[in-house]
Amino acid sequence: MEILAFHSSRPADPDLYHDHDDCPDGKGIASWNRTVGAFGYHRCPICRSLDSRAGLSA
Ligand SMILES: [Zn+2]
Repeated sequence: MEILAFHSSRPADPDLYHDHDDCPDGKGIASWNRTVGAFGYHRCPICRSLDSRAGLSA
């Protein structure tokens, strides 16, 4: 499911934002590191593939 874009505020994490709640990478971000917004980052490739898969089944 598509959700509001968020990214990790942790410097060690990749500069990517997530917008799918099924994304394992996004799920791996600790709640205290989750920051709402894309922050000018690139979209996470997993979230992108989840999106295209959803588009195909729709
Ligand atoms: Zn993601």
